[in-house]
Amino acid sequence: MKQEIYGHLSLDTMATHIPHKFIVPEGTNTLRLEFTHTPEHPGVGNIPHQLSISVYGPNGARGTRHNNDDQQPIISKNWASPGYLSGPIEPGEWTVELDVHRILPPGSVDYQINVFCGNEVTDSRTPMPGPMMPNSLRRRGPGWYTGDLHGHTYHSDGDFSPAEFLEEALKRGYDFVALTDHNTQSAIPEITSLAGEAITILSGVELTTFNGHAVVLGVNEWTEWRVKDGNSMSALASDLQNRGALYIIAHPKSEGHPICTGCRWAFSDMMPGPARHVEVWNRGWAGSHNEPGLRQFYKWLNEGFRMVASSGTDTHRSMPPEVRIGANRVYAYDNTQDEILDGLRRGHSFVTSGPEIQFTAETEDSGACMGDLVKPGQLTLHLGWSSGSTGVDSSELEAVLIKNNKTLSRWSCGEHEDSEFTIFSEEADWFSLELRDRRGELHALSNPIFVGQQVGTWR
Ligand SMILES: [Zn+2]
Ligand SMILES: [Zn+2]
Repeated sequence: MKQEIYGHLSLDTMATHIPHKFIVPEGTNTLRLEFTHTPEHPGVGNIPHQLSISVYGPNGARGTRHNNDDQQPIISKNWASPGYLSGPIEPGEWTVELDVHRILPPGSVDYQINVFCGNEVTDSRTPMPGPMMPNSLRRRGPGWYTGDLHGHTYHSDGDFSPAEFLEEALKRGYDFVALTDHNTQSAIPEITSLAGEAITILSGVELTTFNGHAVVLGVNEWTEWRVKDGNSMSALASDLQNRGALYIIAHPKSEGHPICTGCRWAFSDMMPGPARHVEVWNRGWAGSHNEPGLRQFYKWLNEGFRMVASSGTDTHRSMPPEVRIGANRVYAYDNTQDEILDGLRRGHSFVTSGPEIQFTAETEDSGACMGDLVKPGQLTLHLGWSSGSTGVDSSELEAVLIKNNKTLSRWSCGEHEDSEFTIFSEEADWFSLELRDRRGELHALSNPIFVGQQVGTWR
């Protein structure tokens, strides 16, 4: 059975979701949808319109394949196209929603969605051959672990299969890696089973809205990402955090429309609202948006939000070696999803393209490490650094101690291996340690040590 849906898009339909209902008859085992639009491409210059479809059944969401040319999904009892969820095809009213992420002048676009309901069963496809997973088990127990919190496969707009994505993570030597496809978790079961005991998978999603992106970690099931019908981003974030997820504002100062429509953080009710994690290092450091993102993080710290900085490679495909990506080094009680997320929640972590840093504080009666809170008063900061796994000579680097977004002191890393700094701290001070090279580019950043009193449930 074929059902045809027609629609028209003008410029003012940008940043809307356009729902269309269709009926699935009893006995349907496979759904096939074909979305087409004309004119197919332009757009402006080489930037096309960005349109994807999302499918919802009577019992919930069945997926989407964001920012992918293939908008012809098959959803069946036993198998579904990348981005979509297989499972029973319930008879009744379904919805296909057109997500109008970007529409460019002149903006007059006609679209058609054909829906085919069949009773044939589409069987599992032969999975792509997986990487040779190392026989060695991943490291466990208390310690520092390295990994990435942000990346994509072909379940959204990446090139990698889940197997290739894992291969890349293992090549980089990660202890853990998050898979965060746009608005779908359809690859999580496959990647978790492929990973076995070789590497810890953080099951995640990148909420890819029209006004900003957020990386959410520790959620296995489809997550509402649409900010509409009275559903604010702030409410979504609180709900996810209450369910135990870690919520990270992604690349807050990314370029916006039309280069990367929706990528820049623009939720006026979430500056930062309930968010406590910010991705200050997205892709290579030299990207134009990271320094402003770090400034935004420092601004929020100065406003009194005790926040945690993180890094995400936002991997979509192989990256050239000259792209200097950051990793997260996290102190965790074990190398499991729950413990890595707890370490990140505490801010017991730093971001780095290789160098190691140590950053601790001592007061009269207590000690603290990065991410911790100490009482106001006499404070001795202990700072240490080494080249770590980078090819960068430490003489190329400078250690910078920051207090409340102002430079307090600097050391040449070639001349000193560590240092100590004693200061009388006031309420609401915060300190962080940066390693930068001669061009001023960041190589490592500690999470802050905060000064103040315990408030609320956050630290
Ligand atoms: Zn993003
Ligand atoms: Zn991303």
